[in-house]
Amino acid sequence: MAETKYIFVTGGVASSLGKGIISSSIGKLLQARGFNITIQKFDPYINIDPGTLNPYEHGECYVTDDGQETDLDLGHYERFTGIQTTRNNNVTTGRIYQSVIEKERRGDYLGKTIQVIPHITDEIKRDMLYLGKKNHYDFVITEIGGTVGDIESLPFLEAIRQLKWELGRNAVCVHLTYVPYLSAAGELKTKPTQHSVKELQSLGIQPDILVLRTEHELSAGLRKKVANFCNVSPDAVVQSIDQPTIYEVPLRMQEQELDVTILRKLDMPVGETPGLGPWRNFLDRRHKATKVINIGLVGKYDLQDAYKSILESLSQAGTYNDRKVKCHFINSEHLTAENVADEIKAMDGIVVCPGFGQRGIEGKLIAARYCREHDVPTFGICLGMQMMVIEFGRNVLGFADANSVEMDSKTTHNVIDIMEDQKNITNMGGTMRLGGYECALKEGSRVREIYGKDVIRERHRHRYEFNNDYRAQYEQAGMQCVGTNPDTELVEIVEIPNLRWYIGTQFHPEYSSTVLHPHPLFLDFVKAAIAAHKDNEK
Ligand code: GLN
Repeated sequence: MAETKYIFVTGGVASSLGKGIISSSIGKLLQARGFNITIQKFDPYINIDPGTLNPYEHGECYVTDDGQETDLDLGHYERFTGIQTTRNNNVTTGRIYQSVIEKERRGDYLGKTIQVIPHITDEIKRDMLYLGKKNHYDFVITEIGGTVGDIESLPFLEAIRQLKWELGRNAVCVHLTYVPYLSAAGELKTKPTQHSVKELQSLGIQPDILVLRTEHELSAGLRKKVANFCNVSPDAVVQSIDQPTIYEVPLRMQEQELDVTILRKLDMPVGETPGLGPWRNFLDRRHKATKVINIGLVGKYDLQDAYKSILESLSQAGTYNDRKVKCHFINSEHLTAENVADEIKAMDGIVVCPGFGQRGIEGKLIAARYCREHDVPTFGICLGMQMMVIEFGRNVLGFADANSVEMDSKTTHNVIDIMEDQKNITNMGGTMRLGGYECALKEGSRVREIYGKDVIRERHRHRYEFNNDYRAQYEQAGMQCVGTNPDTELVEIVEIPNLRWYIGTQFHPEYSSTVLHPHPLFLDFVKAAIAAHKDNEK
């Protein structure tokens, strides 16, 4: 069996340069050559996982099928490559330390002083190699969070230095930097890149390939200069210029033969350039889709990254429906019975977003009511589904205090309730219902038709559930429970069949929509929004 090759992706100069997109693109290009790959992210922060992090700090929390709360870059990995990531694809400093401390307590290191080097770095190295050893991948791509120069990245970079040495021709380092354009001087500046590479070199790592993020085309001369100053070959300096969509990036990387350079550096045969047919078809269709539909996202974060997977799922579904989906944030904290019509009128569909806690709840309920009463296509996701249920309880069933016990622990109509097995949990981190669960779809329901299957599997991230004591009353009044967990009978999907599209899911379908396999619920929701758009125009 061929040995696993390791590609390390680091970043310098600034954060948010798109290391996740570059890592995903490398994965995509190698996968298209027939290689079996995985992508993992090592995050230098001390949280065990991003589960308890505020989306303002860290964007969306992505959930793997095996129930790990992870960094949103894992969402890019899955959307680009269609692979399923696992709890082992995201490791944080917190997890590394936790594991080392557990070993120390157990006595695994008896007699030794536990130190960053070698104990922490050995643990990092072990984790970096783990998936490759376990699943015999051809390539393991490892993205390092943060920026070179951060104090907390140091143990990770030291681990890479050692691994590069130990793995020899089986490892390469791709370093992503930024080339700013100074408009006053009319020039692109390479000095920050030179400094960033120096910083890496001072830690003992010579990058093999440089990817330069830029807003302006880089000349051959500039690439040569960077190559010269940074000890890399000129063909190993690649530009990553702004693109109309992140999904163009693999093509731009392929044009510059980033994958070929990687293969050569790893002493591997290059072979034919893959055509990336389905990917190109997706992009062609995307460019041709110029007609716009407007989707309102009702949530408390008016921040792109907080709803990353939902935005991507909608945009993919738009492409497959030959439309450009324009998303509009509707801040639920500012929605009132007075302004809701104005805010929602121009929308062809509404997504009531997931979330935690009290803030912005009333606005979500107001939006759910307006959409139900005005037959606006509406997709409630997780907390959004719970809001649909509460609103229906209050305004159709007449339970004035209907609520989730998350918001009101004393409500007499606890239509959304805490599960028995969640009641005694006191730790907040990693203790929700997390990851993939099966869901049986009711015969004759819209969702059964949409999925074209009777049993599906979707990912969860929540603590509260629809209270089955109220199920009969809801169904009699017109809100149907059309998806249930076959083992526990927990309600996973509600829909109002009399409306054109009013569906709430307790799970998060957005985590499993990919470029080549868009999610059926998003596809169908966008279709309904297109029909509503036509009506809006009449
Ligand atoms: N706060 C709700 C719960 O814990 C919904 C969570 C979510 O939207 N992801 O059940």
